[in-house]
Amino acid sequence: MKFVYDFAEGNKDLKDLLGGKGANLAEMTNLGLPVPPGFTITTEACQQYLRNGTHVDGLAAEIDAHLAALEEKMGRRLGDPADPLLVSVRSGAKFSMPGMMETVLNVGLNDESVDGLSRQAGGNDRFAWDSYRRLIQMFGKTVCDVPGHEFEKALDDAKSAKGVRDDVQLDADDLRALVTAYKKVFAKHTGHEFPQDPREQLDLATEAVFRSWNADRAVLYRRQERIPTDLGTAVNVVAMVFGNLGADSGTGVAFTRDPATGEQGVYGDYLSNAQGEDVVAGIRNTLPLADLERLDKRSYDELMQIMATLEGHYRDLCDIEFTIERGKLWMLQTRVGKRTAAAAFTIAAQLVDEGVIDLDEALHRVTGAQLAQLMFPRFDLTSDPSSVTRGIGASPGAAYGQVVFTSARAVEVAASGTPVILVRRETNPDDLPGMIAANGILTSRGGKTSHAAVVARGMGKTCVCGADEMEVSSSSFTIGSVTVREGDTISIDGTSGRVYLGEVPVRPSEVVQYFEGDLEPASANDPLVAAVHRIITHADEKRRLTVRTNADTGPDAARARRFGAQGIGLCRTEHMFLGDRRELVERLILARTETERDDALAALQPLQRADFLDIFREMNGLPVTIRLIDPPLHEFLPSLEELAVKVAVQHEHGQRVEHDEQMLAAVRRMHEQNPMLGLRGVRLGLVIPGLFAMQVRAIAEAAVALAAEGGRPRPEIMVPLVGAVQELETVRAEAEKIIATIVGDADVDILIGTMIEVPRAALTAGQIAEAAEFFSFGTNDLTQMAWGFSRDDVEGAFFWRYLELGIFGISPFESIDADGVGRLVRIAAEEGRAARPGLKLGVCGEHGGDPDSVHFFHEVGLDYVSCSPFRVPIARIEAGRAAV
Ligand code: PEP
Ligand code: MG
Repeated sequence: MKFVYDFAEGNKDLKDLLGGKGANLAEMTNLGLPVPPGFTITTEACQQYLRNGTHVDGLAAEIDAHLAALEEKMGRRLGDPADPLLVSVRSGAKFSMPGMMETVLNVGLNDESVDGLSRQAGGNDRFAWDSYRRLIQMFGKTVCDVPGHEFEKALDDAKSAKGVRDDVQLDADDLRALVTAYKKVFAKHTGHEFPQDPREQLDLATEAVFRSWNADRAVLYRRQERIPTDLGTAVNVVAMVFGNLGADSGTGVAFTRDPATGEQGVYGDYLSNAQGEDVVAGIRNTLPLADLERLDKRSYDELMQIMATLEGHYRDLCDIEFTIERGKLWMLQTRVGKRTAAAAFTIAAQLVDEGVIDLDEALHRVTGAQLAQLMFPRFDLTSDPSSVTRGIGASPGAAYGQVVFTSARAVEVAASGTPVILVRRETNPDDLPGMIAANGILTSRGGKTSHAAVVARGMGKTCVCGADEMEVSSSSFTIGSVTVREGDTISIDGTSGRVYLGEVPVRPSEVVQYFEGDLEPASANDPLVAAVHRIITHADEKRRLTVRTNADTGPDAARARRFGAQGIGLCRTEHMFLGDRRELVERLILARTETERDDALAALQPLQRADFLDIFREMNGLPVTIRLIDPPLHEFLPSLEELAVKVAVQHEHGQRVEHDEQMLAAVRRMHEQNPMLGLRGVRLGLVIPGLFAMQVRAIAEAAVALAAEGGRPRPEIMVPLVGAVQELETVRAEAEKIIATIVGDADVDILIGTMIEVPRAALTAGQIAEAAEFFSFGTNDLTQMAWGFSRDDVEGAFFWRYLELGIFGISPFESIDADGVGRLVRIAAEEGRAARPGLKLGVCGEHGGDPDSVHFFHEVGLDYVSCSPFRVPIARIEAGRAAV
């Protein structure tokens, strides 16, 4: 197995093996762009290292060979005392994980080569010693777990001893002394001296980067972003170039388009006389990239040309990192850039207009999850609240909450259900838990490419950064005369960058207004709405899956239809038994005689009929699947504990209330140890005479009524929880009789089918299909029963641990477990269709609106997915993406 690739040997399609950074460095190298030479150690080497816990056979020899080639190319040897080659050792996984893993710069420096570096830099001792102290600091923290604050303290001590505030005010002698102090810190924590052998530095740094794949924050980030746990990171060993050699040097990041809005132009930040991560970390305030033109026109022009080349080559927005070393431009990284949801849609549409991509490709470049983000509400500014300050709108959305100043506090306060805004000077990867817990993030430093901005955008979380009028301390921040303390409420607008005191009301998104029909799609002044319209229309043209909705009221059905639903896939009738109708259900349950029971059912029937008619009207012409009642009836009764206490108290006062006594007896009688596996679904219909019949009658009558109005009802009666064909046959026989008497000659066709939500149903689907005109997969129950864990109890109980252990990457109740539950779906689909060609197949569990699951259902060959009204547009987009 080959573990090391020279940059010239790779290309952008090798991300699995070389990581995103390595693959793109290779691509740029082969495009002839100015990339410092180097090589990439593969993700496979990392995987082997993590599996073995020690070195990887054969890796050292390959590194020797590639290092020798690199030395040859550079005309310098690694760490040569006279004229040293220095390298950076950079992580780079397949998926970008900003700041989550490690990087070590200036590898190759030691007590001798530091002088050689000074000579290379034209006798610049200060620069050489500064580079050396940075190496000890980064190496110490990353490779040897030396606490970072110890180095920071030594640096602060050096500055206060000299009476200066800024690092740049330390001279060469100060930095030489600082190196001595750092070495002491290093030795104290590690028990050995800082390694002087350059090759040993390289190997240790490489292994540290491998290990950083499993750092806590990286694990957490992967879980958030649903990145698989076993990919590993590649390691890029790159010849160092220096942005901190003086005023004619610097480092920067740039986007070929605005990653927040998609607007074309030049977006980026530049920091002169700076190295490495200084820009991304937001440590010093940066200059807008446009200012580079003034500072160094030649490099600026070259950069613009390279950016155009990259956009043309990747046919997409690219982000880049670059360094200028004494007027010479070097490209350190590029990738197809992260962007906000709004930018994803607008950029995709722009690129179609520019003839760069076609609509199929545009559809691939957006996701249902991004569309979901665009459906969030925004601030309603009609009351004209005045903002207290303005930063950079780094990740859109509207968020308000109580101010907190630490990640830990954010987690703590959010756990009590209170929304929080995490306020920091700048964030770093250790703040990740707080960023996840917070509603929004506000920082006083850093640009659109700071850690806070990049991570928040990735999470779809509102973020304002670089609000530099704010003075942030550990328990408050001030803007002029205004002081905001922990616990005060503020609102932040991630689009405009404005910060408001107090809670600003929010208004719905334009995209939702468009779906509601309140906004014209072509409104030229809203490119986002126009882009969404264009792309979702294309998705509708391309998709094979129909998208229905889960709705049980007329208004819900109407909204879903406006959102594009093509019918109802699940109308849960039990919701129609709640509120003031509960009393009728109680009467049904408590009935002692047949007459009492029939009376109770007779009272329910017209109410149900009216419900159904409402829904049929809203969905006129479209199929409406009505599920007969499913939950155990005692769910409609008071709780055993409460009732027992109530009756006991009555007894103590010498009272006897007959209704309560009867109710208590009934609740006791109906109590079940495992209600989800008890008397529910089809079992209820077979045990309680007249219950299903009443519902079937109400459906048939409502359908006939709509047909009489000239409408076109398309009811589908769905029997829940079937596990054996005989259950379905029994219900079906009774239902058909009732339908025949009610429908008569009317032009009404009513289908009868079943849910597949018990594993046995999936495994005997061939038999069940004989009695079913359609199947609808109830993947909530199917997941519950296939795994044997309770959907109502387990998520909080142990899923966190399962996620932590990687037993699953995401809750199987959220996204379909393709291997297990999905296999049951596949078997049922195949065997059902074999028995009854053309059998209609759909899904109505929560998975029907989950992007990944929609792709799975497309691939299995279902006819439709059904999801909550709000997720209908998401399913439309994803069904389209699955088809192109
Ligand atoms: C299901 O089990 O997937 C389903 C849709 O039914 P419910 O969620 O009502 O049990
Ligand atoms: Mg169910």
